[in-house]
Amino acid sequence: MKTAILGGGISGLTLARRLREAGLESVVFEAAPKVGGLCGSETVEGFTYDVAGGHILYSKEKAVLDWMAENTDGGCAQRARSTKIRIGDRFIHYPFENGIGDLDKKQTFDCLIGYLRAADARKSGAAAPRNFGDWIHYRFGEGIERIFMKPYNEKIWKRALETLSTEWVEGRVPDAPVEDVVRAAIGIRTEGYTHQSIFYYPLNGGFEAIPRGIARPIRDAIRLNTPVREIRRVGDQYRVNGEFFDRVVNTIPLPDFIKFTPDLDPAARDAVLKLQFNSLTSVAVGLNHDKTPEYSWIYLPHPEQGPANRITYLNNYSPNVAPPGKSLILAEATCVGVPRKDPEFVDEIVDGLAHAGLMNKSDVVMKHASTVKYAYVIFDHDFRKKIDAALRGVEALGIESLGRFGRFEYINSDQCVSRAFALADRLVEESKSGRRLV
Ligand SMILES: Cc1cc2nc3c(=O)[nH]c(=O)nc-3n(C[C@H](O)[C@H](O)[C@H](O)COP(=O)(O)OP(=O)(O)OC[C@H]3O[C@@H](n4cnc5c(N)ncnc54)[C@H](O)[C@@H]3O)c2cc1C
Repeated sequence: MKTAILGGGISGLTLARRLREAGLESVVFEAAPKVGGLCGSETVEGFTYDVAGGHILYSKEKAVLDWMAENTDGGCAQRARSTKIRIGDRFIHYPFENGIGDLDKKQTFDCLIGYLRAADARKSGAAAPRNFGDWIHYRFGEGIERIFMKPYNEKIWKRALETLSTEWVEGRVPDAPVEDVVRAAIGIRTEGYTHQSIFYYPLNGGFEAIPRGIARPIRDAIRLNTPVREIRRVGDQYRVNGEFFDRVVNTIPLPDFIKFTPDLDPAARDAVLKLQFNSLTSVAVGLNHDKTPEYSWIYLPHPEQGPANRITYLNNYSPNVAPPGKSLILAEATCVGVPRKDPEFVDEIVDGLAHAGLMNKSDVVMKHASTVKYAYVIFDHDFRKKIDAALRGVEALGIESLGRFGRFEYINSDQCVSRAFALADRLVEESKSGRRLV
């Protein structure tokens, strides 16, 4: 069985690796001159940064985490998360509800009383709202909503929060038991979102060292600079760019995949065209000193902090991402439609960081912007209907779709790996039994 794998991001590479290890042949078609996709990194003037914002390796699945760490080119460093939220001139412990004691006393009170009232309302049976905007109030109460959750989410999603559903919040929006929030309010430190409190990062080459390491043993199966141009079904085979395969697995974002799949059902095509997503600009800012605070990353919820919603102190992940004596801040800003990387936008981001007291503009020795078109899935209220119709159409062609934008899932690289493992197992079974199992 010979499989065409469309896309050489972490999903496609992991699948190809697992198929190779089981003795099955595959070819990875990758449009870019290198592997990695959203897990890619770039080096500019000796500074190495992740092109889709600061990435960290963590997972609830130990086998996946171990496999990724073992396969990282040059190995990984283990780090303890030290993350803050910038509110005015204060650094608030993350997650926010575990840090409310770091606010001024009035804000701490507002957040605590709001959280307690929201917990009471839930206990007396208040129904969970189906839109994210109202859900924030229902889950966190007025204080946390006003000071952090609403401005932060408006910055990242760039649309009215009532237009979003809540289907993605489970496991993605940290929350905390009431007891921990009370502890936080009176100054007893608690940790939330603990499965992420220890994480890993490649020692060299940025996050891209992970997909690069996964790709290393299968380089002969990877075709770089090879965009997929056409897929046709021919009998029980597939023709990809003129070459025949028994199976096709897509990991390319669906809105691009449909451009070269003329056999796709029009209803599925229509559903894909209605799927929404935000793009991202990442701005690497090199500084002429190595005296940055020992934080991992900082959330910037407020408009006066500029367009960036988050910065990462990448040199705290690995000292090798910056030349000796220098440091590297990576700022992320979401965009709707074509992401901006014009000098005015980059300056706006840098000005915002300076205004937030996070750096001095006179220390900047390098500024460089990268963009990715597909960064965040938008979970609007029709999302489930659209994605189900889209995937039904893809499956009707006998093509599997995998990955963050191959299925429009809000997943991290470890979950991509986990799903690729599962699909590889199924394809191996199918090749042994000689029949399709789904
Ligand atoms: C802002 C942000 C922060 C994140 N933070 C983390 C984090 O901290 N930790 C973590 O683990 N994950 C994180 N992620 C998620 C992670 O980046 C993704 O889940 C993962 O990289 C998706 O991999 P993929 O292979 O599914 O898709 P992609 O990486 O999108 O791969 C698709 C590939 O297809 C290729 N392609 C496109 N068109 C064509 C074509 N026509 N022909 C051939 N090839 C084509 C692309 O070049 C690309 O290489 C983050 C993502 C974002 C956006």
